Amino acid sequence: MKARISSATKHIFAIEILDKLPGLFKPYRYLYHCARCKWSFVVNDGPSGVITALDDRDNPLPHDEARSRIATFALGPCPSLQVLNAAHGPIQTSNGTEATTVDHTHRSRPRGLLALGI
Ligand SMILES: [Zn+2]
Repeated sequence: MKARISSATKHIFAIEILDKLPGLFKPYRYLYHCARCKWSFVVNDGPSGVITALDDRDNPLPHDEARSRIATFALGPCPSLQVLNAAHGPIQTSNGTEATTVDHTHRSRPRGLLALGI
């Protein structure tokens, strides 16, 4: 269950191959761009697989902000999903009080359909 929740909150990346680092047997650099939150990361941006977080204009972010974004790179959470969770507040009833439980009304099928066996 925990793996299912974390996979749902990960970034959804579109990956672009940028260029190859200079030198023999050096890896390619990749641009990872999240389709949900629009955050961008450059992978292999230097020796030993460095990840760089980019701002909206593809400039490297300041150290603290970059560090917090890079921490979400592999497992999330994607910030666009956090906005959805924050917008989902308590349910208000028609008289202005908060509902404590969800009303589970069981609806029966129309009688005509029951008679037909559908
Ligand atoms: Zn994202």
